[in-house]
Amino acid sequence: MTHELTSIEPLLPVIRQRPLGLMSDIDGTLSPIVSRPEEATVPEATRTLLRQLVAKGVKVGLITGRSLEMAQRMAGLGDVAYAADHGLSLWLDGQQETAPGLGEYEALAREVEQDIRAVCEAIDGVQMENKGALLAVHYRRAGDPAAARKAVLAAVERSRAAGRFRAQEGRMVIELRPPLEVDKGTALKTLAERLGLRGVVCLGDDITDIDMFAAARRQRAGGMSIATVAVAGEEAAPEVVAAADYAVEGVAGVSQLLREMVRALP
Ligand SMILES: [Mg+2]
Repeated sequence: MTHELTSIEPLLPVIRQRPLGLMSDIDGTLSPIVSRPEEATVPEATRTLLRQLVAKGVKVGLITGRSLEMAQRMAGLGDVAYAADHGLSLWLDGQQETAPGLGEYEALAREVEQDIRAVCEAIDGVQMENKGALLAVHYRRAGDPAAARKAVLAAVERSRAAGRFRAQEGRMVIELRPPLEVDKGTALKTLAERLGLRGVVCLGDDITDIDMFAAARRQRAGGMSIATVAVAGEEAAPEVVAAADYAVEGVAGVSQLLREMVRALP
């Protein structure tokens, strides 16, 4: 049962723990969804709140499907950890770490990009995004998004990606990911362990964040104090909200929660 979070009150037992972590998705959680994904950014007011949390000793980890470079550009924050590419690339203590076996997929992703290019370019509003070992195809701006999705998936099926990559769908995006046992759930576990967290507030809005919420439940069973918060709203998938302990309304609800966290922490 997911509860609407209207105040920080229910999270107090979690945020009293030390070390405390805030593990958050970026797109649609900290940054508003925009029609051109490359233009998405974390608003300055939200950055300020995150900086204030860091200053109060909170370990902030950003867990995203974006590339590390893009995630760092969007967030514009130095003193935080990143798990980019759904956890395939980590940024911890100022150093980058990548999942083993990733290099092979980088070359293959470029081949697949060639294979599906003609189909993607033929549909107005469909946009490929090179994410290293991942390939994302966005169809938010297509005139007929459902038809665009179908055409792209068919092209993927005919390409060298067939059987080699895992097609994961998100909000108006198809993402081809290496079939490595890495997802936002393993990313959460890794960051929580490496940062030595005892309390965690975990935020997300998309299908891929369900892995993170599931991992949070396992961490809780292992003794960690953890609360998961989904971002509800017009575009939110009901299963994401159902997978979380709490829900807030939109990115505005997230910034309100961050503001209350700043206020509640000594
Ligand atoms: Mg998101």
